[in-house]
Amino acid sequence: MSDQTRLIHAGKIAGALVNTVGPPIQKGSTVLLPDAAALYDDDNYLTYGRAGLSAQASLRAALAELEGAADVALYPSGLAAISGALLALLAAGDEILVVDSIYKPVRRFCDNVLKRFGVAVTYFDPATPPETLVGEASPQVRMIMLESPGSLSFEMQDTPRIAALARDRGILTAIDNTWGAGLLFKPLDHGIDVSLQALTKYVGGHSDVFMGSAAARDPKLAGKLADGINHLGWAVSGEDAYAMLRGLRTLPLRLDRQGANGLAIAAWLRDQPEVASILHPALPGCPGHDLWARDFTGACGLFSFVLKPAPEAAVDAFLDALSVFGLGFSWGGFESLAISCDPQLKVRRYAKSYGGPLIRLHVGLEAVDDLMADLRRALDAYAKHAG
Ligand SMILES: *Cc1c(COP(=O)(O)O)cnc(C)c1O
Repeated sequence: MSDQTRLIHAGKIAGALVNTVGPPIQKGSTVLLPDAAALYDDDNYLTYGRAGLSAQASLRAALAELEGAADVALYPSGLAAISGALLALLAAGDEILVVDSIYKPVRRFCDNVLKRFGVAVTYFDPATPPETLVGEASPQVRMIMLESPGSLSFEMQDTPRIAALARDRGILTAIDNTWGAGLLFKPLDHGIDVSLQALTKYVGGHSDVFMGSAAARDPKLAGKLADGINHLGWAVSGEDAYAMLRGLRTLPLRLDRQGANGLAIAAWLRDQPEVASILHPALPGCPGHDLWARDFTGACGLFSFVLKPAPEAAVDAFLDALSVFGLGFSWGGFESLAISCDPQLKVRRYAKSYGGPLIRLHVGLEAVDDLMADLRRALDAYAKHAG
């Protein structure tokens, strides 16, 4: 054969790969099939690489174990997991009830896409009692979308109660469980139908990979989620799936440390004269603490606090004085971050006054003393500008 032909087939490794601790990262769109009958045998063969190869399959199996799921669908981002699950499970004429404290880009998807395709979207106050929420739902309501705690203001919902009441009425429930990271809270064990996560945050853990997941215990529902991805044509890379699997190995250790660091800082902040209140469901005395204590096994490093009132310039001075905390929107990585929240709260339907500027912190793996010193310097800058 000519070099031209030989180069197409040269270097192929036949037979088993060596057995490493992690899965092999296969790269492939084309899957070579053993015979003609296999070409159209989708029940017994993976016939195309878009569905994911070795590393994606390993990650799905690991996440299914973590979530107690029949199967887990992977998406190219956390937002894609939520939009993909909603597109897979809702149809024109349906209504969805969405908690008002939902991650803001989900709201953008609901308002700009779901509504355009004939799905009615109704936002509800996170403090709505479950009996009222489900009892007053219209017959068109197909799904209730929760996020508990909310990722800016940390409102908790009585998730198991809402799930049980919704199930009695044939309404699906889904939750954005990015704060619980699949570990601190197990939505499927509490009766939720679809557990969604931005793996980008704690599972990735290093602020460098995007991915999302949707887990379901009911095999029929899991099948619908997988179909939804197939219909939309989304795929995640083997390299990214490998990075997520690597993050999963140390997830419990990182969460344990970051949760403890976060609680230590939250308790310290509560005693600082510039601070009005703390919004951290795992801190005793904070809103939602009872629900957290009943349903969660731990805390992550994300919480907010309210500063005593001062002009906007003082908030900027606080943030600009931070040097160990970075200024950035994401969370779940190994590094500490801070943002001001107030501009994001304006979109809410049930706007609430927190009595001062709201600051969100993500506490990473730095030494707590260094983080406290950084915050103390920033509070001094705040006090100076507050006059
Ligand atoms: C970041 C985040 C998402 C979206 O994840 P991406 O991977 O950035 O798309 C969804 N929900 C919450 C609560 C988040 O913080």
